Amino acid sequence: MTEARRKRIEDVLKRRQPDLTVLLENVHKPHNLSAILRSCDAVGVLEAHAVNPTGGVPTFNETSGGSHKWVYLRVHPDIAEAFRFLRERGFRVYATALSREAQDYREVDYTQPTAILLGAEKWGVSPEALALADGAIQIPMLGMVQSLNVSVAAAVILFEAQRQRLRAGLYERPRLDPELYAQVLEDWLRK
Ligand code: SAM
Repeated sequence: MTEARRKRIEDVLKRRQPDLTVLLENVHKPHNLSAILRSCDAVGVLEAHAVNPTGGVPTFNETSGGSHKWVYLRVHPDIAEAFRFLRERGFRVYATALSREAQDYREVDYTQPTAILLGAEKWGVSPEALALADGAIQIPMLGMVQSLNVSVAAAVILFEAQRQRLRAGLYERPRLDPELYAQVLEDWLRK
């Protein structure tokens, strides 16, 4: 490995945000999953979360641009377990929803530990997950079509989080504790 490559890997790791993530509920189509992980990488998500009730192993395609190598994906057995995991680590979970009651996604403070819950193309976020969430957010839709593609919605919200975190200086110093930093660095250097 060249010095330049090692430096690039370290620079990216220093910008990773361990307290920003997505929780994907039954979002399993490879192109959607891949596009979401690509946005996660660009915004600095260290680890994404997924629940797939049908039990399939997540698969990616070329849409990921290789980002699935750099963003960990933790798969939980069910939505309750995913919430338990995130809550124990201090995350607030915001469910995306298309209802009028959901607040505008730009009103949330993403500088706090935040997980964005996204739902399946056909059904959206389940009522069970919505009930567990700390709040519901929506991207205002002013056209003829009711919703965005899930990967587009993920990108819109993640980049708002990036904007807020840039402004708060959260990319200016490493956010991982030294032990985790060393562990992830070792893993990344092997890739
Ligand atoms: N018929 C589904 C419903 O009623 O929820 C549509 C699901 S939409 C195609 C797939 C996912 O994309 C949603 O579960 C949500 O996570 C996200 N999404 C799409 N448009 C959105 C919007 N305008 N605001 C927030 N999330 C959105």
